[in-house]
Amino acid sequence: MSGTLYLCATPIGNLEDITYRCVRVLNEVDLIAAEDTRRTLTLLNHLGIEKPLTSYYEHNKAEKGPYLVQKLVDGCNIALVSDAGTPAICDPGEDLVKLCIEAGVNIVPVPGPVAAVTALISSGLSTIKFVFEGFISTNRKNRIELFERLKNETRTMIFYEAPHKLQATLEDMYKYWGNRRITLCHELTKIHEEFIRLTLEEAVKYYETTLPKGEFVLIVEGKSEEELVSEEKASWEQMSIEEHFNYHISQGLTEKDAIKQVAKDRGLRKQDVYKEIKIAD
Ligand code: SAM
Repeated sequence: MSGTLYLCATPIGNLEDITYRCVRVLNEVDLIAAEDTRRTLTLLNHLGIEKPLTSYYEHNKAEKGPYLVQKLVDGCNIALVSDAGTPAICDPGEDLVKLCIEAGVNIVPVPGPVAAVTALISSGLSTIKFVFEGFISTNRKNRIELFERLKNETRTMIFYEAPHKLQATLEDMYKYWGNRRITLCHELTKIHEEFIRLTLEEAVKYYETTLPKGEFVLIVEGKSEEELVSEEKASWEQMSIEEHFNYHISQGLTEKDAIKQVAKDRGLRKQDVYKEIKIAD
């Protein structure tokens, strides 16, 4: 019978943030696969757990993934542990999970801390709807493409960011999104935990004179619905009814739905829109 892969969430700073269940599973498995074996060893020493440890990280995942799957197929129970927090979030755990599913290996999540959610709930920004974007690319062109794509995002946005790129990221966010609220979270769950709640404009200024330290989670307010609606309204006003209709057709709406949408966007009756389209025909 094949073994089980346990996805074990571990602390993102404070070692008390480990669940009883996680400690039990780490004690019971045959092998622990860790993204950073040195860091995991510190945790295991703290918990008094002695277990065989092997590495599984971005640069060895291609060979190590199939090796671990074979061990699981042979009946070995393995705990996967990330650098910090929940495995498979911004680490190669996702690939191992896919390989295990293909091989018919049982997967059991052992939930716990996630930096993104820990930051979001303390940010003071809307938690009703949010989008997690993970790490921001180091390549400026890709970063700008991302910020262009997210320009009209109305949900709260969550990013992971390194200190040396922070200033450039904040400048681009301000440039592409205008002035929004942002909460910069660092040293989460640690002694020097800090939540810096500013606007993007203030954040750009703040980091001109402050050296950022530690890894960050950035929580950025989405565009307000009112702003989005008024921008859309302004852009419809530049178009004729026919151009407006063709725009919705190009977005994949049927003729019937495009007429309905144009009427809604412009506050008109459907028959008035229909008449204009017919005249244009
Ligand atoms: N798997 C992890 C999770 O559950 O969130 C994330 C791992 S990801 C490789 C590491 C990133 O998470 C860091 O670069 C940072 O953005 C964020 N992070 C992790 N721990 C953090 C902490 N204590 N304070 C602030 N950010 C943290």
